Amino acid sequence: MSDATNGLQGLPDVHDLERLANEYFSALPASYTPGSTAKAENSYQDFSGHELIKSYSSGSSAHSLPFESERPFERELKNALEALSVTQPTSQLPLVHLAAANESFYYFSAGLQSIPDPLHPPFNVNLVRNDFPILSEQVNGKLLVWLDNAATTQKPRQVIERLSHFYKHENSNIHRAAHGLAARATDAYEEARQKVQHFIHARSPNEVVFVRGTTEAINLVANSWGEQYLQPGDEIVLTNLEHHANIVPWQLLAKKKGLVIKVAPVDDSGQILLDEYARLLNPRTKLVAFTLVSNALGTVTPAQQIVQLAHAAGAKVLADGAQSVSHIRTDVQKLDADWFVFSGHKIFGPTGIGVLYGKEDLLNSTQPYQGGGNMIQDVTFEHSEFHNTPSRFEAGTGNIADAVGLGAAIDYVQKLGIDHIYQYEHFLLQYATRKLEQIPGLRLIGTATEKTSVLSFVLEGFTTVQVGEALSKEGIAVRSGHHCAQPILRRFGVEATVRPSLAFYNTCAEIDLLVAVTSSLKR
Ligand code: PMP
Repeated sequence: MSDATNGLQGLPDVHDLERLANEYFSALPASYTPGSTAKAENSYQDFSGHELIKSYSSGSSAHSLPFESERPFERELKNALEALSVTQPTSQLPLVHLAAANESFYYFSAGLQSIPDPLHPPFNVNLVRNDFPILSEQVNGKLLVWLDNAATTQKPRQVIERLSHFYKHENSNIHRAAHGLAARATDAYEEARQKVQHFIHARSPNEVVFVRGTTEAINLVANSWGEQYLQPGDEIVLTNLEHHANIVPWQLLAKKKGLVIKVAPVDDSGQILLDEYARLLNPRTKLVAFTLVSNALGTVTPAQQIVQLAHAAGAKVLADGAQSVSHIRTDVQKLDADWFVFSGHKIFGPTGIGVLYGKEDLLNSTQPYQGGGNMIQDVTFEHSEFHNTPSRFEAGTGNIADAVGLGAAIDYVQKLGIDHIYQYEHFLLQYATRKLEQIPGLRLIGTATEKTSVLSFVLEGFTTVQVGEALSKEGIAVRSGHHCAQPILRRFGVEATVRPSLAFYNTCAEIDLLVAVTSSLKR
């Protein structure tokens, strides 16, 4: 990204910071000076055979920066970052604070095994970027800067090649035939299910149902469990943060069955007001459906509290993980929601594949969603016997290849380490927040303490489309619009925002370019 600020008036005070931050983030084993006391303690190969470093030991105190003697710029970087208040001693990191102060609120943070130094990501972002061919694309004559990750993520070569391998060597329908390719395809498909199981920490692969995506998963629950168990007058509690995919299916069901929908409000930062939420719960509440991370604001919701309160009221809970799954560790057992849903394309996998997790007993006691082949044990013209989950909810020929591709995407994320990804993105988010905040006339929408990967804003004097177009001219892809979450934007008095959203392959240089182009509009 050496030409990142070419032709643009970058923010002068951060120019050096950008270089330093990038050098820092790019500390390669190859650039490590032989003879240093610092050594890679825990290194492994990435998918391209490059060595990735998991952690370093400098032989000095736990919080000191490694390479200090060999790489003097690191002290400058530390000072510069401190001036922007994006770095603190490891013991005071916001993430650590979050985990310690709110452990029971944020189920994912309790799952963090170790807190790596955020200035020392355990993967090399430039090596990681090499795995994503599209990041070398030119758009409008500029190198692509993909900051639309909340809409969809880019795919690593490992996923693209896995799909190609499937069609070249394994393609067959599954479960039905006794021939060799059917066995290969079935094995690949069921292996992908197990990868999802382990990734989300489900008790059994039977709790993992492949669907088209988050939207289909929610519709499935509404039209099977909701249709079967909800009665007129029953209440569903949603939150103000929900994506339309977690509003409209419930509205359709409510209209059909005479249900009541209630909405938990948020405070001015965009965080759910837990006491207000608790007040909505009562014996008529049969379902709480909420998002773990808001796609419009980036708010990380107090998931464990929401689930516990709902269960105490006797309600079932559906957790929408579309925006959490690629950023935050998922542990469905710890979370204890009855259903957890996500889309493959938001976690570096293919479109058209997603997951409905459900507790096994619950899935087995729920009527099917669609009828057809694969989901039946026995059929006569009078009567059909259904399989248990997961086949029960996978009628017809599913998206076999893309399920396998999702498995490859999960392998990729697992190899980087979801906690490491969270840590790196958390740093990037803070870096971007501090810099965007400095642009005159820019209003960030969604300023909760607990956020991940989304920066929504409006810029005084410009429509969101104008900002989006100006960014696009420089190769930067962001979403401008209502993000399929109109109720929450209206809560903040706007109809649309510009929404840069981050992934682990984004860099400080890309954020600097975003900031430079946005601020140049005001000049
Ligand atoms: N929920 C949330 C929070 C989302 O961000 C999205 C996608 N933007 C969805 C649901 C719907 O996902 P999909 O379009 O992949 O079904």
